Amino acid sequence: MSKGPQTALERYILKRGGDLDLFYQKFEGSLPEYKLLRVVSWLVILAVVTYFAIPDSPDPIQLTYELDLDKAPTGSLVITLIAEGDLPRRMNLEFPPGVFWDLRNGVHPHSATAHELKPDGSKGKPLTVDRTREGWRVGTRGVSRVGFIYQVDFNQIQGQDLDVRRHISSPVAGGLRAAGFEIFLQPVGPEIDGITVTIHNPDDLQVLVPWPALVRSTSRVAKNQSPPPAQLANISQGQGFLPAAGVAPMNDTDPDKAPSTPPVPSNLMFHPLNLADLNNALLICGNLQVVSTQVRECVIQLATDHSWKFPLSSALDMVRRIARTEMGFFGSAPTSQITVILAANRITGEENFDIYGVHTGSSVLIMMDPNITWGDLEDQSASVIAHEMFHGWLGEAIPQRDPDMLWFTEGATTWYAARMLTAAGIWSPDHARAILEARLDRDYQKNTLKSRISVADAAAEVMAGPNKVRFAYAGGVVACMNLDQWMAENTGKRRPLDQVLRHLYENRDGSPLTRLAFETAVLEVTGLDCSVWLDEHVYTKSHLPTAIRLI
Ligand SMILES: [Zn+2]
Repeated sequence: MSKGPQTALERYILKRGGDLDLFYQKFEGSLPEYKLLRVVSWLVILAVVTYFAIPDSPDPIQLTYELDLDKAPTGSLVITLIAEGDLPRRMNLEFPPGVFWDLRNGVHPHSATAHELKPDGSKGKPLTVDRTREGWRVGTRGVSRVGFIYQVDFNQIQGQDLDVRRHISSPVAGGLRAAGFEIFLQPVGPEIDGITVTIHNPDDLQVLVPWPALVRSTSRVAKNQSPPPAQLANISQGQGFLPAAGVAPMNDTDPDKAPSTPPVPSNLMFHPLNLADLNNALLICGNLQVVSTQVRECVIQLATDHSWKFPLSSALDMVRRIARTEMGFFGSAPTSQITVILAANRITGEENFDIYGVHTGSSVLIMMDPNITWGDLEDQSASVIAHEMFHGWLGEAIPQRDPDMLWFTEGATTWYAARMLTAAGIWSPDHARAILEARLDRDYQKNTLKSRISVADAAAEVMAGPNKVRFAYAGGVVACMNLDQWMAENTGKRRPLDQVLRHLYENRDGSPLTRLAFETAVLEVTGLDCSVWLDEHVYTKSHLPTAIRLI
């Protein structure tokens, strides 16, 4: 492994005093054979990496990504990246680095060309394009506006591949599903000031994007010319993806029925807040059934390309109840829009799970048995949906980046998911208690790892095998419950960890959760110094009781 800084990620790790060898050891271990609920932490790291790895530049540049969905039904995206401003003479365009530079993922970018863009938007002289390890290098020859066109093909990853991350970007029925970090090339070097994504949708495919989007109902709008206000609809105000007036509402109770007339106009545009936001995107288009609703100020979208044995409206209602409960717990929504995508699980390897949950930004992807019944959805999948949605607060709004805190982020999220389902009336307290008890007994109490490794160490291992991951999650739940109990006994407060979570959320400033920040929050809420308790019970091997107030 070369020690010379090569990628933005490597530069970032070195700059932050990290150990590259340690990093690669983690990443070159065996493939994860577990239910990957934690891809987000790496997405967040990617996002941070991208953000911090970009050195200062005198003048920030503007980026516009134009996604052409013309070939999406055959699993292909054509993307034009327009970079404007004080461009370097040799501009490196890279995919966000990290685990996703793994070429065995489901995307294949190719056929890059570049040209100057004249002030009137017409094509100018062609520019040189050279392939690099992480992307391409464009010879801009000092021009101030460059159009860089490339194509991304989406390959179906084989079902035997157990690494769920490789299945995130994938063809879907009539279109494709794309993770931002796998499709958006980014300039390395210049500071970025302003990002626009536009979507050209000539066939009126159903499209879901994670941002409140502006909808352009006419075809192409000339550059720098805003569409008339009457043609705009803001998704966050509950309009955009809802059927337009005159369009019959979708009959989602009949699985055989083809989706009704797509309510989405042919063009969308939106502005990710920054590169992190862009990377965190999960976009999906194709033959989708889409239903949406609103909880307070937050729009909830639910989409699928599969015909399930239950009405989509019932699933939306469940998602809405979970969202309402979690928003009630924290006091507000972490984002103005939450997108949940239900997909058929095509991971078929021997050690696969029945259900996988992944979240990126405000999007949640749930992959489950294509023949799942409503009963199984409520009993089993609901906890994964609640878990992934809870990460919108704990993991995203309270950012999870420090592996030392994964025990808390995953443990609390797993525990609170069960409690949120109970509060939402989706699980009975008895059912929730039984599920948690069985899980803690199998994965923590009877786990041979308990006498060999601390919960924090197990959780910190991103690429651990399935047993260690189970131990980490169950151990995290046990640690959180016992910490809550310890704080309650010493303060007389009821459920003090609830208050700690809310405190962390209300006082969030975008900085990642650290052990110090956590201990400070505990101190501010309860007056207790939990450092020694954590050392004894979380950061070193210990045997904690499991049968305490589970629900
Ligand atoms: Zn998780």
